Amino acid sequence: MRVAAGKLKRQACPVAIPGSTLITQIGELVTNDPGGFAAITNAALIMEDGAVAWTGPAGQAPAADSVIDAEGRAVLPGFVDSHAHLVFAGERSAEFAARMAGRPYQAGGILTTVAATRAASDHTLRANLRRLAAEMLGQGTTTFECKSGYGLTVADEARALALAAEITPEATYLGAHVVPPEFAGDVPGYVDLVCGPMLDACAPHARWIDVFCEDGAFGADEAAAVLAAGRARGLGPRIHANQLGPGPGIRVAAQAGAPAADHCTYVSGEDLDTIVSAPLVATLLPGAEFGTRHPYPDARRLLDAGATVALATDCNPGSSFTSSMAFCIALAVRDMRMTTQEAVWAATAGGAKALRRTDVGHLGVGARADLILLDAPSHAYLAYRPGVPLVAAVWQSGHPAAGPASAAPAA
Ligand SMILES: [Zn+2]
Repeated sequence: MRVAAGKLKRQACPVAIPGSTLITQIGELVTNDPGGFAAITNAALIMEDGAVAWTGPAGQAPAADSVIDAEGRAVLPGFVDSHAHLVFAGERSAEFAARMAGRPYQAGGILTTVAATRAASDHTLRANLRRLAAEMLGQGTTTFECKSGYGLTVADEARALALAAEITPEATYLGAHVVPPEFAGDVPGYVDLVCGPMLDACAPHARWIDVFCEDGAFGADEAAAVLAAGRARGLGPRIHANQLGPGPGIRVAAQAGAPAADHCTYVSGEDLDTIVSAPLVATLLPGAEFGTRHPYPDARRLLDAGATVALATDCNPGSSFTSSMAFCIALAVRDMRMTTQEAVWAATAGGAKALRRTDVGHLGVGARADLILLDAPSHAYLAYRPGVPLVAAVWQSGHPAAGPASAAPAA
């Protein structure tokens, strides 16, 4: 028996594989291949035991325990947001408003958020983090990375990572975000702390280590030292590279064996060769350029050179306070000349590649059943209808996680 997806009730079918769910009448099923966008029209998908068990034309779908009728709408892999800063307190809307008005604003910057975060209780930080995570899930993000970097003391960084690790396996230690005021004028001293006692306290909670490699933050040698210290503790390298100007970040990423270089707004010819040959995923964060009115990275040049591109939100209270992958897709298509297919692949499979994950970002058989149902017939609507909430339902590991599906009674 079929049920309209608008109701999304599960009903038993007489010939049932126990626990399996068939989503049928999918107008466009985006499955993705490792090399690029792939989709099936008039499709169906079966999920079982938290994984994708079958995909193909709707007319050939095997029977399942329960059936959901997608009514011609699109189903996509859940978004994979591979770059987000979610453990913080306070907000900086006045700084944003002043920046947009072209007015100088003295009291802003990362250190404002550091002060608010240090002063916040565990309860406040956890509540803020979970609210953002729920906001992301409701918009279709089923996997996300989460950085520390607003504590910048041993205790505050360890606290941030312990909180992040409660809700994502992709927790990233970003002690090397900025030099805190108490180490002003002593960058080597702070790097020693980041690579020593702070790393000791943070490594048990983290999968990754990150460094902000930029003029005014950390230079090439410091960044390489931080990533090497992390690697010695089993943490994978990540990097903020070439965001505000040309610099060594992309080269450092390649030398450290990082899966990705994040931002890539200023990419020299040599950097481009490095990205393609290393290879590095170029993770583009257009929310940051939107929020600071800086020029967008040249996605077209990267793609035409053969680079792999990922899109992520860079969600943070200063430069990019959006948790919406759909918004980033729209910016990438409208302002960075990515095709709708390239942008959707970059926001799903590209993010997975940047996190070295093969179980998410696609809907091939065996993938985690992380998927979203759009209130639209094709993936292109994510850019075609910007700013419109199009995610009708979300499943995580096969479980209804957001939207009407999550309120459906059990079969
Ligand atoms: Zn960032």
